[in-house]
Amino acid sequence: VIEDERVVGAVIAGDIVRARRGVVLACGGFEWDPDLCRAFLRGPIERPVSVSTNTGDGLRMAMRAGAALGNMREAWWYPTVDLPVDGELRPFQIMTHAGWPRCIMVNAQGKRFLNEATNYNASAAAFHVIDPDTMRLVNLPCWVIFDHDHFSRYGFGAVPGAEPVTPGDGGPEWMVSADDLRGLAEKLGIPTGALVSTVERWNSNVAGGRDPDFGRGEHAHDRWWGDPSFDRSTTASTLGPLETAPFHAARVRPGTIGTKGGPRTNAGAQVLDLGGEPIPGLFAAGNVMASCMGPGYGGAGGTLGPAIVFGYLAGRTAATAGQPVTAVAG
Ligand SMILES: Cc1cc2nc3c(=O)[nH]c(=O)nc-3n(C[C@H](O)[C@H](O)[C@H](O)COP(=O)(O)OP(=O)(O)OC[C@H]3O[C@@H](n4cnc5c(N)ncnc54)[C@H](O)[C@@H]3O)c2cc1C
Repeated sequence: VIEDERVVGAVIAGDIVRARRGVVLACGGFEWDPDLCRAFLRGPIERPVSVSTNTGDGLRMAMRAGAALGNMREAWWYPTVDLPVDGELRPFQIMTHAGWPRCIMVNAQGKRFLNEATNYNASAAAFHVIDPDTMRLVNLPCWVIFDHDHFSRYGFGAVPGAEPVTPGDGGPEWMVSADDLRGLAEKLGIPTGALVSTVERWNSNVAGGRDPDFGRGEHAHDRWWGDPSFDRSTTASTLGPLETAPFHAARVRPGTIGTKGGPRTNAGAQVLDLGGEPIPGLFAAGNVMASCMGPGYGGAGGTLGPAIVFGYLAGRTAATAGQPVTAVAG
């Protein structure tokens, strides 16, 4: 509700609720609105894993109030696999899992294309590579490939490794299995020779303790997120050969835990107009706003942390009659 260029309240369940200090937009991103995603994001999202009510209402309200927008191309990207949960298939974030030993990702050409142990958000850069001739995404579709030792030891996402696996007919619907890599490639419709040579190269590099192709295991992050039962000062917590039949695959779909573009704010969480001035009475915090993290991800809590900080700043600024808390903002 805007009166005399000031946000003075909001319509909640049909009633106007007036605000003495201001209105804080804290209603999440726009990842569940396919049109907004198509209009703004730098890559596709097939599987948002946040609450489905995040449909961009806050973004629309901010735009109506004349807000300047920022970081609109970005989301907290997260590769997913559809897995059975409570009797139905649901998207499950798998990037951490894909970085454990005996597991790689390949594209439709049967080739690896990223460090599978990198952080989930950064992995999107590999998924968004475009072939300039065809304008198609080079690395989608994509499959995660793992051997039976991996599955027995770790399960997969929400699926315990003890679950019986029958390669071929009768296997679980989320997983494709075969007794050898050629059979697996045939079932996936990717070149058999390419998949076999990708795995052979991977296994030989693993035997040498290095991934010269994508540097998996070279960063402390890769090793830390690997299998904790290995020595994390070595690459063994993330590198491991694919050698034990049957071999398994699951389709990877691009997902997100939320978008992170929206109205720009100052360091007091006040929403800015197109001229860079605060819109009186309007604040934003969390995924609804233009994230201060830009395209990046700072590590565990890197999403919740800034949301909480800007929620705090919005409250403080509103309580101090609209003066941004510049000392806190640094
Ligand atoms: C599966 C999953 C795992 C995660 N794990 C981590 C983690 O380990 N660490 C971490 O830091 N972050 C994690 N995150 C990210 C973190 O949860 C989000 O960044 C954070 O919840 C964003 O907070 P928010 O308040 O901006 O939005 P949300 O928490 O998404 O809340 C927005 C709320 O607004 C409501 N809403 C939307 N429109 C309206 C409307 N018109 N009126 C009223 N209400 C509305 C929505 O229903 C929703 O409840 C994870 C996210 C997911 C999905």
